[in-house]
Amino acid sequence: MGNRILIVDDAAFMRMMIKDILVKNGYEVVGEAADGMQAVEKYKELSPDLVTMDITMPEMDGITALKEIKKINGDAKVIMCSAMGQQAMVIDAIQAGAKDFIVKPFQPDRVIEAIKKTMD
Ligand SMILES: [Mg+2]
Repeated sequence: MGNRILIVDDAAFMRMMIKDILVKNGYEVVGEAADGMQAVEKYKELSPDLVTMDITMPEMDGITALKEIKKINGDAKVIMCSAMGQQAMVIDAIQAGAKDFIVKPFQPDRVIEAIKKTMD
């Protein structure tokens, strides 16, 4: 299993925060996307081993992007990044094939735990 990760979030500071956690723990961030449309394009282009996917984004939300990515690769490993109060959307995402979810504000240990578990 590789360690190439695509980060998807419409907030640049959020992408930076996740990237920092990942890079410090030896993961390679191969790309970033700021909305669901870009996420699907970058997924096709880069074939990352794992995607961290924000839920609320312009153009295409994270759950729709997850479903599109699953059409491209049914085995795609996607972890959802949710905010407080998005439990219903997290359930939708898990049903659509998300492997796990992490809740903002991110705890670095929890982020790494979710990624390790999903990569195995
Ligand atoms: Mg967002």
